[in-house]
Amino acid sequence: MSKIRVMDENLANKIAAGEVVEKIASVVKELVENSLDAHATHVVVSLMDGGLKQIEVLDDGDGMDKEDALLAFSRHATSKLYRDDDLFFIDTLGFRGEALPSIASVSFVSLKTCSGEVGTLLEIKGGKLLKNEVSDARKGTEIVVKDLFYNTPARLKYLKTEASELALCVSLLERLALSHPSVSFTLFNNERMLVKTTGSGNLHKCIHEIYGLGVSSKMIEVHASNDDFDVSGFVCKPEILKSNRNHFITIVNDRVVKNYDINRAINDAYYTYKPDTKFPIVVLKIDTDPTLIDVNIHPTKQDIKLDKINELYDLLLKTIKDALYHSLLIPDAIKKPEYNEIKDQYVENFVKEEEKKLDVYSTSNQVALDLSYEEEKEEIIVNEELKKLVLYPVGVAMGTYIVAQNEEGVYLIDQHAAQERINYERYLKALKETNVLTTSLLFPIPVELSASEFLTIKNYLSVLTDMGFSVQEFGVNTFVFKAHPTWLRTGYEEESIRKIIDIMIQNNGEFDRVKFNEHLAITLACKMSIKANMHIGPEAVEELLQELVLCDNPYNCPHGRPTIIKFSIYDLERMFKRVMN
Ligand code: ZN
Ligand code: ZN
Repeated sequence: MSKIRVMDENLANKIAAGEVVEKIASVVKELVENSLDAHATHVVVSLMDGGLKQIEVLDDGDGMDKEDALLAFSRHATSKLYRDDDLFFIDTLGFRGEALPSIASVSFVSLKTCSGEVGTLLEIKGGKLLKNEVSDARKGTEIVVKDLFYNTPARLKYLKTEASELALCVSLLERLALSHPSVSFTLFNNERMLVKTTGSGNLHKCIHEIYGLGVSSKMIEVHASNDDFDVSGFVCKPEILKSNRNHFITIVNDRVVKNYDINRAINDAYYTYKPDTKFPIVVLKIDTDPTLIDVNIHPTKQDIKLDKINELYDLLLKTIKDALYHSLLIPDAIKKPEYNEIKDQYVENFVKEEEKKLDVYSTSNQVALDLSYEEEKEEIIVNEELKKLVLYPVGVAMGTYIVAQNEEGVYLIDQHAAQERINYERYLKALKETNVLTTSLLFPIPVELSASEFLTIKNYLSVLTDMGFSVQEFGVNTFVFKAHPTWLRTGYEEESIRKIIDIMIQNNGEFDRVKFNEHLAITLACKMSIKANMHIGPEAVEELLQELVLCDNPYNCPHGRPTIIKFSIYDLERMFKRVMN
């Protein structure tokens, strides 16, 4: 091989490195995926300074003989065997073949590997082979990448701070662990353990190891399939929401992927179970025929496109909705610790106040890790039982919170939120009804509008008639309402009509009757429900509780806020130290 050829190749590698190695996490991802391809059951990732100084990946996989090890660092190496379903990522083959030489061209790499008999040690700096020796024979691979981008300062600049590179690595390892529950993953940064899974093969246990008891005890198991997709996994109860979508973990044919429509299905399934700005923790495994997956996607991105996405959307939406419907979702007043929060805090403060935070972390970490995983899952209580549940009113605190009790504990119910939920479901049902009962108005209600509003409403007259209104044009830019659907609350007819017209004017454009109904039901429910600090008598309290437990979702107001919170007898006894632990 001529010198010029070598230089060209090295240059190509450096250029490729700029494209495929964007972050520390992309190096870690490549190395760990190599371990997984080599059937490793244990993968240990050790970073120094968030990986900026050093990245080490150790596995107990198949290992390589000397020839394969050398080949792995030559560009366009295609010696690797890929599984059948890798065909759907066929365009990544090029990337997978180029990644190791690319990484080696911009760092110092040392590789120790052994496929069973003789071990091999290679050292490569800036793409140049410095060492090629026989080494000890531990089966598996150990690869160390030091000083990434040392010879391309322009690229080095693009790496973010230690803390943000580390946060990306933590999130990557968590996702890899959740997508491979049979493999044990460990992540260290500066010898501090941040992720540890045992590789038990049990997804629920893996969720426990990553998020802690606070999350794992609040997960609902789901299973479903249709002709093209099998779905299984866990979705969280709405009491442990996060402020971003980072915990929508979707695994298609064993790969963690991102897909807009899958995420939309998850979010839509939680409609009115959560506020719009909060997001659940969801780990879903989706298995499908690889031919349904679009291959034309950039190799470093996780985005995928799927055929029959509408069928998958419907399946996910129904499965998650059913799971929420059939589970008892009253939040506990006492929150169990979430391992994840402690870790996030550590990562965030990693650079700022390292020493101090390390201490905080190590003590709290122990507390979190002491929470042992219980194999028996909590019995899933179906909603039908809640409907039999009786809440005995005790009184109303602060003119806002109904206090109730039963043999299991004490409950606080937000009177506005609860009534809002009851009214919301009532209005929504009424709005879907085709046989509408109407009430004639003794004094017709005139509604005067601007010229453009008048024209808008004129387009909606058939919708208003459908809803049970009798409306006529009456003079200049004015409609007169002569009858209304009976479900409109007495005394609030005019206010309600004005609200409906407002929503129609706001919605102007594409009219979606389903969305309109939802929007209208929420608005009217909020308007028509007793506010906080409004006195309600004991009979009204009793009636409200009876109606609440009969709702489809009695746990949240239509805006997603909780309606009811439980203090179990155990929580109370613990708070008053009647029991110690
Ligand atoms: Zn409200
Ligand atoms: Zn609300």
